[in-house]
Amino acid sequence: MSVIGIDFGNESCYVAAARSGGIETLANDYSLRATPSFVAFDGKKRIIGVAAKNQQVTNMKNTVGGFKRLLGRKFNDPHVQHELTSIPARVEARGDGSIGIKVNYLGEDQHFGPEQLTAMLFTKLKETSAAAMQTQVNDCVIACPVFFTNAERKALLDAAQIAGLNVLRLMNETTATALAYGFYKNDLFEDKPRNVIFVDFGHSSLQASACAFTKGKLKMLASTWDQIGGRDIDLALGDYFAKEFQERYKINAKTNARANLRLLTEIEKLKKQMSANSTKLPLNIECFLDDIDVSSSMQRSQMEELCAPVLQRVEQTFKRLLAESKLQLDDIHSVEIVGGSSRIPSVKQLIEQVFNKPASTTLNQDEAVSRGAALQCAIMSPAVRVREFGVTDIQNYAVKVLWDSEGSAAPGEIEIFPQYHASPFSRLLTINRKGPFNVSIVYGQQVPYPDQTIGVWKIKDVKPTERGEGQDVKLKVRINNNGIVLISSATLVEKKEAEEAAAAAEQAASEEKPGDQTNNAGEPADGQQEGADKKKKASKATELPLECTTHGFSPVDLSNYTQQESKMIGNDQKETERIDAKNALEEFVYDMRNKLQGGPLERFVVESEREKIVSQLNDLENWLYEDGEDCERDIYTSRLQALHQKTDPIKLRASDYEQGPAAFDELKNSI
Ligand code: ATP
Ligand code: MG
Repeated sequence: MSVIGIDFGNESCYVAAARSGGIETLANDYSLRATPSFVAFDGKKRIIGVAAKNQQVTNMKNTVGGFKRLLGRKFNDPHVQHELTSIPARVEARGDGSIGIKVNYLGEDQHFGPEQLTAMLFTKLKETSAAAMQTQVNDCVIACPVFFTNAERKALLDAAQIAGLNVLRLMNETTATALAYGFYKNDLFEDKPRNVIFVDFGHSSLQASACAFTKGKLKMLASTWDQIGGRDIDLALGDYFAKEFQERYKINAKTNARANLRLLTEIEKLKKQMSANSTKLPLNIECFLDDIDVSSSMQRSQMEELCAPVLQRVEQTFKRLLAESKLQLDDIHSVEIVGGSSRIPSVKQLIEQVFNKPASTTLNQDEAVSRGAALQCAIMSPAVRVREFGVTDIQNYAVKVLWDSEGSAAPGEIEIFPQYHASPFSRLLTINRKGPFNVSIVYGQQVPYPDQTIGVWKIKDVKPTERGEGQDVKLKVRINNNGIVLISSATLVEKKEAEEAAAAAEQAASEEKPGDQTNNAGEPADGQQEGADKKKKASKATELPLECTTHGFSPVDLSNYTQQESKMIGNDQKETERIDAKNALEEFVYDMRNKLQGGPLERFVVESEREKIVSQLNDLENWLYEDGEDCERDIYTSRLQALHQKTDPIKLRASDYEQGPAAFDELKNSI
């Protein structure tokens, strides 16, 4: 069993594995550590990762990338509409309002949701890991942006489940980076926290987090973020060059998706060169549009001017972190940078400007997130033995609980977790009720999702006392390991005069798993002091049934999607075997023809027979390009078998000769 950490980036993914020797970033089938977050469909098969990105220009409509930012969202979501402007595939609203990405697969138009595409990518990462580790992979920790809301986190978990991954934790990306940093530091102190800022500037997002390290522990303090990344820089440069080409060559790159993609690809290369070089650099594209070759150039300072609005937002994000973490400049030990776009010199300058510390590159900028996730997985999984390191994350948004009115009792609400509250965590909340009631959990501040609601829980089977009075219902409101907020239990606490039952609050608290923290909500909902019922009066606790409506697929949908994914894995396998069989036949035809015509087998077969076989091989070659182009695997294998039957005796004669030429000559003479 191996233990892995996944960095699912908007542009590319990294997988790291924990082995007894340490953490290792795994290479994929192209011997690359980065697997592009792309899925493509090509007739009978799916193409995922490097191969998908490589064929994007020639198969644009059936190649999908950028789906990380669509997870858990509806088609009408303005954020989705914005994202779709950069996705060339056809995307439609499905019956239930969800996103359907339309591709041609297995000869028909099919719709896949972002969760399914993510699952496909996870399937590929799982295969990569299994191949690299030579063992099955199940347990993993997946990193996700710190700003992901409940819906997005649920969608990511659903995607992992569809791909058959067992997620031990969804971990905020900057927290994973922080763990990758802190785990190996043996100069941390118990009583003097070391405050480190982590900046992750990637393809579609910027995240900055403050973290306090003590010996064997880390505690996240605050995080700020913005939905800007390297792609926004590419787009700003794209606008500039498109305008220039319009003026100079009278061609409009924006009207042609393929040309636009080629332009952005070249721009990205140029941008990376500009990070290392401040002189003027060329940009040339041959046969760009209407057979026109285009050429231009750019210099870093010009890029910085064009991207000033993006850089301004970067600066604001850093300044907000400084304010929200409440750290003084002198409190900051260092600023560690990760993510591809953090290589941009002006971003490093802004870091120095705002935090008064040079940007430090202690960590591998591309692999830190996956390595941190793998470390967390190793800490949590019994499969690998690793030293403990405590991770206290934060809830990025304030969370409120609201309950409906009952009779004359007014509805109520409480901010159960303020922004940057420790996570995971549970809080108990007591509400006095005579009958069933509804509780909603919502975000208590603006979040990057159109709906603030996390979920609605129906608390059932609540009854009044014999005297017709309300009873205390204790709700356990929880932020779990994945940053998902939920009501994990509701308990009716019947007060009894007799001292027979255990105190409900204590019982509820003792149910917590190790490493979890439970607290009573600051303000008890019914105006009584929480904890008062722990006094002499004993009580009887009854677990109440809950009915919940929240984000994520229903069990039925999840099971259907999982089956569909398994079927597609089976199809891919079948298709790979079919192509392999076809390639084997084709290879045999070429190889045998070469060997028989002027090659080592020529003299081991009489001429008439040889001509017959060569003509058969020629026919087969033609067949492979015509009628035989798209046959079942068995047809290729049976033709190969027939060829073997014909040619194996020749090969045998040749090998006999090699082993004993004298005997062969004897035989020849006797014929
Ligand atoms: P996200 O974290 O936003 O989901 P990601 O993890 O896939 O996305 P990264 O791999 O961290 O993103 O970064 C990719 C981005 O970094 C791309 O926009 C790429 O152009 C940019 N990038 C990579 N190297 C450089 C460089 N040397 N200079 C400037 N930008 C770079
Ligand atoms: Mg990233």
